[in-house]
Amino acid sequence: MKTLHRLPQVRYVEFTKKQDAWGRWIPPIKHNRPGIVEVDSRLEPSAELDTLLHELLHEYFRDTTEEKVDETATLMAAVLWREGYRKVKQ
Ligand SMILES: [Zn+2]
Repeated sequence: MKTLHRLPQVRYVEFTKKQDAWGRWIPPIKHNRPGIVEVDSRLEPSAELDTLLHELLHEYFRDTTEEKVDETATLMAAVLWREGYRKVKQ
């Protein structure tokens, strides 16, 4: 596995109605640094997985379109979910 020098911080927050989002990616100030991913803490587990993947795709494929990110995250989340991947509370 490659060096994990670009792991973004992940925060669980509650977005307001005005923000109208379930997640967001906050770009870093310096391009080669990791950004920050925020995911709404009230999401159901499968939606949380989809949202986390979505924001991570923004982190690692910064020039990709919103449409492609959205489609890819949903597909990856569906496969991972079908294969039994779940979040373990520690
Ligand atoms: Zn997006």
